Amino acid sequence: MSAPTCLFCKIVAERIPATVVARSEHSLAFRDIDPQAPTHVLVIPRRHVQNVGELADAPRELADLFELAARVAAQEGLGRGYRMVTNTGSEGGQIVFHAHVHVLGGRPMQWPPG
Ligand code: 5GP
Ligand code: ZN
Repeated sequence: MSAPTCLFCKIVAERIPATVVARSEHSLAFRDIDPQAPTHVLVIPRRHVQNVGELADAPRELADLFELAARVAAQEGLGRGYRMVTNTGSEGGQIVFHAHVHVLGGRPMQWPPG
């Protein structure tokens, strides 16, 4: 169930390269191409859905996504804390319409976000 023109589906299919840091049954984690923190990893469901909200009726995939995000944070040594961001929709700052969670860490985070 991949979308042929979707950038992240192409990464899942290994049709374009990415620096993969972790994998699970339903999810994939790879480094953001334009990192906004010392650690900036994107964690995505392998199946194409537009945003994380669309996984609400898929609890196993949703749990798998968040488990992999936590595993990435541990693997990256973010024991002092990190930020998970899910931009949703154009006004929410989403530019790639394949669900993803940003895992950001390795520096103090500011609040409120921009
Ligand atoms: P969004 O704004 O949709 O929440 O985040 C999309 C993210 O995907 C951005 O942080 C952007 O840097 C990242 N990105 C865009 N194109 C690529 C790519 O080809 N490879 C990787 N690894 N990240 C990408
Ligand atoms: Zn996709």
